[in-house]
Amino acid sequence: MYCSSCGAYNQDDSRYCGNCGKRIGDEEVDESSPPPQTYSPPGHRVVPNIPNYLVQAILVTIFCCLPTGIVAIVFAAQVSGKLQAGDIDGARRASNNAKTWAWVSFGLGLGIMFLYFILALAGLAAA
Ligand SMILES: [Zn+2]
Repeated sequence: MYCSSCGAYNQDDSRYCGNCGKRIGDEEVDESSPPPQTYSPPGHRVVPNIPNYLVQAILVTIFCCLPTGIVAIVFAAQVSGKLQAGDIDGARRASNNAKTWAWVSFGLGLGIMFLYFILALAGLAAA
């Protein structure tokens, strides 16, 4: 059926319009029953909480690997900007990229430390 208030199409068995939240259909419904929790006023956009990994990116830049860490910081910095611009998909992509590059930096940092460790052991063994 169609909402009498805004004209949006709704499932025949729905009691509230999915578009404007007005009650439709069965008029016998108790007036005191609250509308569904999913109802949000028109124009109100729910901004998902997307992590930007900025702290991790900065940490791996300092402690692990500078070049790849900077790439992670650049992506991390894009997340909040894209969120504010309403580009949810872009923010999510930047967030994923920041996470990936932070892990790459972390792995490289670990690898380099491991290499130093091996070289130090080799140096001790040769002494
Ligand atoms: Zn409606």
